Amino acid sequence: MQVAVLGSTGSIGRQTLEVAAARQEIDIIALAARKNIDLLEEQTRQFQPKYVGVYDVQAAKEFQQRVVDLPVTVVAGIEGLEEIASLAEIDVVVTAVSGAVGLKPTIAAVKQGKTIALANKETLVAAGKLVMDLVREHQATIIPVDSEHSAVFQCLQEGTGAVEKIILTASGGPFRGWTREQLAHVTPKEALKHPNWEMGRKITIDSATLMNKGLEVIEAHWLFDIPYEQIQVVVHPQSIIHSAVSFRDGSILAHLGVADMRIPIQYAFSYPERWEGLVKTLDLTTVGQLTFEKPDLDVFPALKLAYEAGLTGGTMPVVLNASNEVAVEAFLSGQIGFLDISRLVRQAMERHRVIKEPTLEEILQVDRETRENVWKMINR
Ligand code: NDP
Ligand code: MG
Repeated sequence: MQVAVLGSTGSIGRQTLEVAAARQEIDIIALAARKNIDLLEEQTRQFQPKYVGVYDVQAAKEFQQRVVDLPVTVVAGIEGLEEIASLAEIDVVVTAVSGAVGLKPTIAAVKQGKTIALANKETLVAAGKLVMDLVREHQATIIPVDSEHSAVFQCLQEGTGAVEKIILTASGGPFRGWTREQLAHVTPKEALKHPNWEMGRKITIDSATLMNKGLEVIEAHWLFDIPYEQIQVVVHPQSIIHSAVSFRDGSILAHLGVADMRIPIQYAFSYPERWEGLVKTLDLTTVGQLTFEKPDLDVFPALKLAYEAGLTGGTMPVVLNASNEVAVEAFLSGQIGFLDISRLVRQAMERHRVIKEPTLEEILQVDRETRENVWKMINR
């Protein structure tokens, strides 16, 4: 299969290329990133893609100079990413960029009826209805890469008819069991220490606030067409059960394994088959105990805000996502405290006047305006 990897220099992107290097079924035709052209050049020399997209226009020019000896076409900007996502020769587009910037390229791929291995959850949060309507219209296929959703997808192979609820597991992040007083003074360095997963900076902070789980609730709602009332979040600190589905007959099916994203990444390519993996199978006798608890919504209000945004619908999840992206960036650069992240998201949501069935233009406009407003709140 001919594959494009958007966000190839990131955590998911690099692991996708590890899987690709090990499997001859996967032929890398295109890569794209924002501006890490050092790694992008290395990847280009190794995988010999025909196309490389660089979002940052200046970096794209420099990249072009560096690869003059290679038969590769370099494209720039968001248009470049959209162009790559729509290439006729690509079968599978892996969307592993971080943030709502993934929306336009994902839509471009959907409109060409492609298979999308979707890691970029922010796209479904911002525009779940619109994207899923287009998926049906253009007979595209979305296969989830997010570990919880890959787990649920695998548990749902006999259909959604008898589903009682989807159970998304959450590690609880580095601050599980902490109080709000303790959280008031945590530093980016502490928040970036995730107990079980090595991930990009933005999603690691989202895991610490539990916003990541909130975004995943919305992602699950759209991917599996299931009401929010039937999506439950359970804190499971060992991250061995990657998620589960409970059925009306009293059965629960769960997906277990080591916490390694190369498993769900590879499954997105091998589905409906399973291939020999890069990851060793979990030895249950070494696991010891599996424990479960309820999330603490008072200490981690981001999860509650995400449910609220999802239930409100329309453009509210756009605001949730955009305000969170800005707040996380501001936290990482030391401009605000940890608790300010969910405070800013709540304030942005309170101010917002919801558009019920937004067009893509309206979604993009609300996204832009929210970012501007939240930066203003931060700089005030
Ligand atoms: P990283 O921050 O590690 O990587 C982000 C990637 O996206 C980089 O390649 C970056 O390029 C690229 N990128 C960012 N902005 C743009 C842009 N404007 N145009 C083109 N490329 C861009 O993130 P992760 O890999 O951790 O996460 C990626 C997505 O996958 C997120 O949506 C996340 O929620 C989701 N996800 C991640 C998991 C994980 O284990 N990491 C697990 C489940 C989901 P550059 O390096 O040049 O900046
Ligand atoms: Mg996840």
